[in-house]
Amino acid sequence: MSSSVALRLPSIDGLLRHPACAPLAERYGRDSLLTGLRQLLDELRPGVLSGQLSAVEIGAEVLAGRVGERLAQQQRSNVRRVFNLTGTVLHTNLGRALLPEEAIEAVQMAARYPLNLEFDLASGKRGDRDDLIEGLIRELTGAEAVTVVNNNAAAVLLTLNSLGARKEGIISRGELIEIGGAFRIPDIMARAGVRLHEVGTTNRTHARDYEAAISPRSGLIMRVHASNYSIEGFTARVPTAELAELAHRNGLPLLEDLGSGSLLDLTRWGLPAEPTVRQALLDGADIVTFSGDKLLGGPQAGLIVGRKELIAKIKKNPLKRALRVDKLTLAALEAVLGLYRDPDRLAERLPSLRLLTRPQADIFAQASRLQPALAEVLGSLWQVSAVEALGMIGSGSQPVARLPSAALCMRPQVSKRLRGRCLLNLEAALRGLPIPVLGRIDDDALWLDLRQLDDEPAWLGQLPHLQVEP
Ligand SMILES: *Cc1c(COP(=O)(O)O)cnc(C)c1O
Repeated sequence: MSSSVALRLPSIDGLLRHPACAPLAERYGRDSLLTGLRQLLDELRPGVLSGQLSAVEIGAEVLAGRVGERLAQQQRSNVRRVFNLTGTVLHTNLGRALLPEEAIEAVQMAARYPLNLEFDLASGKRGDRDDLIEGLIRELTGAEAVTVVNNNAAAVLLTLNSLGARKEGIISRGELIEIGGAFRIPDIMARAGVRLHEVGTTNRTHARDYEAAISPRSGLIMRVHASNYSIEGFTARVPTAELAELAHRNGLPLLEDLGSGSLLDLTRWGLPAEPTVRQALLDGADIVTFSGDKLLGGPQAGLIVGRKELIAKIKKNPLKRALRVDKLTLAALEAVLGLYRDPDRLAERLPSLRLLTRPQADIFAQASRLQPALAEVLGSLWQVSAVEALGMIGSGSQPVARLPSAALCMRPQVSKRLRGRCLLNLEAALRGLPIPVLGRIDDDALWLDLRQLDDEPAWLGQLPHLQVEP
């Protein structure tokens, strides 16, 4: 039986004066509290008018509690730390490379104080922000000159536009790739004002194909590292040295987009071989572009290195100003590059390399150590085991190479029909933890690849919060 006495919502003024709201005003500010209360009352009004709400539900204490929850929610940052246990180390959606302490300190300094971003302390005159890292990059790559922009996509766009606008860019059909949805080489060429002249076939392109394409309309030859796929079997590709010779014989520059690009030979750490920037330049590429936050292990940036007069042309392009890097990035980049001066200790100091080279036995031991705690929290519905697994580098580096790793593998002990739902529920529950845990579902199981689990106490500490719907 509903009461026939009409309920009335408390007034805003009354609520603002109520002792339960005072701490909220203190904590979040009076304006935020006022907005929150107004929204809440507006939402409740229809329920009150239709008699669906009880007096208790619209009491001042209850309303203060609800507004408090909302304000707390609003204050929580949208940018959140997660555990990347997907098995993909340089995960584009999860922020790619983790910075070393040296870079974090440099970022803090750059954030906190004024700095000589474009100011030459020696002469007291205006400087160029590229000068801050040019010396280091030249030393590490052998390049004549350097410029840095926001990311490698920007580097490719800027280079193409600076060197090939209104001319033809010659590129193999096997290298017309798409990277992460919106970045497609043919589209970027078009946007850069370069007319695409594709040569060869998807699997085989020969020197004679490039040769036949060259005309007075040609502006450049481009080579793109097919980072996120591999062509195997009956294939042919012109080596960079030969392509560079062909380009130069015809008075054209050779651009090489290395994608990840590495400053050092990764096989020294037992990782799959990746072309190095130095080698591409030695082979004769005139401009090489690569990312700062892929194998380099630094902040998001696009590095453009190569011949002095071409870099000068690129730096003069007005687009350079639109694509430039900020001071925090430059500070981090310099610190990361500095670590490369001591390759012997790089794997200890650079987080991405340390994680990529973590021995499988070490990861497996960790999985075995954590298995009982997870099994206990999940209960008898789940079979939890420590198993060997295969991860990957990510960000287009070595798409087919697998990193021997280890994982916690969770299999629901239910009928096949229910397994999919069970796995999705567990995945959602892990994602709902205070520090969301991200794994991958594969082969009727949920896998947490532990290669990147550094902070074991934080991970274990939040396990009791795990609530999985049955
Ligand atoms: C990743 C990649 C890019 C884009 O680099 P971002 O730094 O992500 O902008 C361009 N070209 C190749 C070959 C790549 O692998």
